[in-house]
Amino acid sequence: MNLLDFLRTDRRSPVKKIAKHIFVVAFLLLTSNSGLAQEAPPSYKAVDPPNRNLDASLYMQTSAEYRALCYQIYNLAAERLRQAKAEFDKTNGSSPAKAAAVIMDLDETVLDNSGFQAMLVRSGLAWDPRLWRIWEKDGASSVGAIPGAKDFIEKNERLGVAVVFVSNRDKEFEQQTKDALKGLGINYDLLELKESGKTDDKMSRFGEVQQKYDVLMYIGDNLRDLSEEFKFSQLPENPTETDLQNAIDNRKQKVDALSNRWGGGSPLWVVLPNPTYGEWTKPLNRGVRDLDRLVPEAKSSSAMPVSSLPPAPSKATDHKFLQDGMSAMSAGATTVTGWSLTILGATVAGIVAGNFLRPSAIVRGIYLLFIPGWTFLGVSISYGDKVTRRLAAAAFTEDRTALGQIAAAMNSDYAAQRGWFYLALLIFGLWLALFLLWWVFAKFEPKSKR
Ligand SMILES: [Mg+2]
Repeated sequence: MNLLDFLRTDRRSPVKKIAKHIFVVAFLLLTSNSGLAQEAPPSYKAVDPPNRNLDASLYMQTSAEYRALCYQIYNLAAERLRQAKAEFDKTNGSSPAKAAAVIMDLDETVLDNSGFQAMLVRSGLAWDPRLWRIWEKDGASSVGAIPGAKDFIEKNERLGVAVVFVSNRDKEFEQQTKDALKGLGINYDLLELKESGKTDDKMSRFGEVQQKYDVLMYIGDNLRDLSEEFKFSQLPENPTETDLQNAIDNRKQKVDALSNRWGGGSPLWVVLPNPTYGEWTKPLNRGVRDLDRLVPEAKSSSAMPVSSLPPAPSKATDHKFLQDGMSAMSAGATTVTGWSLTILGATVAGIVAGNFLRPSAIVRGIYLLFIPGWTFLGVSISYGDKVTRRLAAAAFTEDRTALGQIAAAMNSDYAAQRGWFYLALLIFGLWLALFLLWWVFAKFEPKSKR
């Protein structure tokens, strides 16, 4: 029997009617869930604690010390590279088999993404790949240059050392990355970006570059820009405090064991500071529990007051990212509401449908589960409506502080909407399981003919 035959089955057969009912409701529940997975994005996560990246970002964006540090590193790197190139020329003569090159990372090594970090801090949001994609796609004109990077690259041009950028920026936005570099007047010989869906491990791309060039120096703000040996060891799914501490210690020990390698060795390794993000943050981002990673004297969690950020001044360039994020949440909320209404309609129709066979009295009690199920769907729809209304409210203001507050409230409503919706799905799933048990194990007596 095919599906259509099954749906057209004899209406007078009680068992087939029940089976058909279960099929329709199960189909709706399953399709609503899989549809959500594809269409409704989860809400953005609030950063925890809320001010965790403020000083790190301010250090990079306001301190003269950070700039001095970058110039110092690039000046010393240029001198080291000049020496390495002289050695290279002495060894290889005037016609080497492979040209000399330096491999550089891009973000926070050559390109300054302060605008993106500022948006995250001022919106109270944790880093999210969807927001980063918006920045990669639309933020080219807002990207700056790391102090000293351009001058270092120009020195390399004069020295005859090729500049190769190996970055984990998405290849899908290669043109935008090229535009950002062009806008800053930065020249290069080769640009190697990450293919969509591929690993962020740079070693295979390093290998490809080494086929063509003799790499004299690697520069990056993340030790994985130099070698994969500095990747954090794999943490278990639910790491204990000891697992996290061991992973941190292990990585630090690797660096200590190579203490003479930094700024020296062959190829040369050069590291730039980045206190805002990177491989080093992987065992962190566990809220106030990160306090336990501080030295013992500062271990008390009461030492860190958790308060919201002070109102941020208005800044026009942040608006687009907030508005894009709010639009994405509103679209997701509309999808969830659509599925809520579908399930609501389908379950009501299932109950009131004409000659539906009712289970015996006790078993019929499982239909009481529909009451909390419908209630949860109703609450979910109500939160969805709030999300939509907040998007409309956001259209009436350009004030950055007000927009940030609306975005935060919207994010919270969207999370609540999804939470209530999943609770409703759980209830209807429970009903379905109980119904299925009854259907499998109940004994159906044929109706006596009158
Ligand atoms: Mg980087």
